[in-house]
Amino acid sequence: MISKRMLLAGLGGLICLPGAKPARAALPTIPMARHEQAMRRAIEQGKKNPYYPFGAVITEAATGDVVAEGFNHAHDNPVLHGEIVCMNDYVAKHGNKGWETKVLYTTCEPCTMCITALIWAKIGGVVFATSLEGQRKAGMEPFRITSQDVVDREDFHKPMLLGGVLAAETDAMFLNRKRY
Ligand SMILES: [Zn+2]
Repeated sequence: MISKRMLLAGLGGLICLPGAKPARAALPTIPMARHEQAMRRAIEQGKKNPYYPFGAVITEAATGDVVAEGFNHAHDNPVLHGEIVCMNDYVAKHGNKGWETKVLYTTCEPCTMCITALIWAKIGGVVFATSLEGQRKAGMEPFRITSQDVVDREDFHKPMLLGGVLAAETDAMFLNRKRY
């Protein structure tokens, strides 16, 4: 379930709700069509692993250009979630800099490991499709702690966070994935 608060935070970036700390990420306003375009690229990545279709891309917020990509390799190494593979691809191509103007798109809500890595990087924004609840409905067992929980509890850096983009498509993709 995507909370109204998450959607507002994602759409506004700087919207301050009662009780919420002000977001620090200063990104340009990104139209929903561009979010969806980037998410389609993340879905393409996800489909490269038909068993666990977790895919991600990183875009330059101002232009929407895809600057890094990756998909889940956790079968080989437990930390190689799609987001981490994508972050590694980013650093390999661009170095460990420029994160604040970038947005990572991922087919599923980042786990606590991945959202924490993205916070350490001080990335500008994180957009996901399927929620942890959607992942659960597809028969997987995600951690119960949401990305929003981590962002809310940690003051180190607060990226823009938006969930539910193209979730109907990715929910079906996870539900219909290949099973071992
Ligand atoms: Zn993860």
